[in-house]
Amino acid sequence: MDKKVKKALENIPTKKIGFFPTPLHRLNNISKKYGVDIYMKRDDLSGPEFGGNKIRKLEFIVADAMVKKAEYIITYGAIQTNHGRETIAASRMYGLKPILYLIVEEKPKEFKGNLLLDKIMDAEIHYVIPAQGMGAYEAVVAASENAKDRINELEAEGHKCYDCPAGGFIPLGCLGFVQGFIELENQLKKKSLEVDYIIHATGSGGTLAGLLAGKFITGSGTKIISFSVDKEAPDKIDKISESVREIGRLINVDIDENFSKEEINIDSNYYGEGYEIPNEGSTAAIKELAKEEGIILDPVYTAKAMNGLLDYIKSGKIAKGKKVVFWHTGGTPAIFSEREIVGKVYD
Ligand SMILES: *Cc1c(COP(=O)(O)O)cnc(C)c1O
Repeated sequence: MDKKVKKALENIPTKKIGFFPTPLHRLNNISKKYGVDIYMKRDDLSGPEFGGNKIRKLEFIVADAMVKKAEYIITYGAIQTNHGRETIAASRMYGLKPILYLIVEEKPKEFKGNLLLDKIMDAEIHYVIPAQGMGAYEAVVAASENAKDRINELEAEGHKCYDCPAGGFIPLGCLGFVQGFIELENQLKKKSLEVDYIIHATGSGGTLAGLLAGKFITGSGTKIISFSVDKEAPDKIDKISESVREIGRLINVDIDENFSKEEINIDSNYYGEGYEIPNEGSTAAIKELAKEEGIILDPVYTAKAMNGLLDYIKSGKIAKGKKVVFWHTGGTPAIFSEREIVGKVYD
């Protein structure tokens, strides 16, 4: 990577929130079992609080909110949103006041998993009940409409608000995953490793956009495979492509001409019935990783991506002898949530 890119990245304000670099290590037992070298990138340990992939984005987003002199940060998510919980923790570190809009079927009577943490960190929480027939992710995006009145009210009283979209998916936030990609490249180099695939779960698409930009900038030949966690919005690929180009503009790299949508490999065959709904394969993946490696996957994202990865290996889509990095994007608190979300992880 040339010095100009490095400099451009350094010139964008960030706030220190996470513990980076996150560990990269080999999963010895399942690597042996499947005959594929599987490494794990531990963004579940990115801290605080309980870590997760949104921390990388929030280092840029919180800094931006502070440059803009915001007092409040508003964001959105489903009941077990990791992004919401990570945003609240990051806001608390820097004295910003967090407001969370949660999409729920009904107002919760109990607070579990991420929602328990949201309550302990004392965020202002609003519950939004979606229109019938609306997909969960679609509803999260629609929730921003509900926040407009609250934002207007606060601003009329002279309080500046920073509106952060679901998943923290803005090009500025995606820079966190450009850095993440570079961080991984450096770790691989130190281990004299070249990997064939990076595997991860995709939700809003922000992580993927950042990884793709990182891949472009470093000239890496690693293929990125992304597993969906819900029915995809029809414009997702376009939105990601546009973001990759926008990320390039933020750091003075001309990605426009050279980025092809063909680079985006999203597989929607493993999310099952939908967002926050476990399935047989994803539950089996949680149990397998726990039993073989002592590692806990989250039921909403990483379990679905791991099920995809293991199935790719079993079906030969990923050949024996290949090298893979599985990006553990976090979400661990959801394992302490409602049984309908966790799945049948024990008999
Ligand atoms: C948000 C999230 C993802 C997906 O990241 P996007 O940038 O929204 O695509 C994956 N895994 C976990 C645990 C998450 O919380």
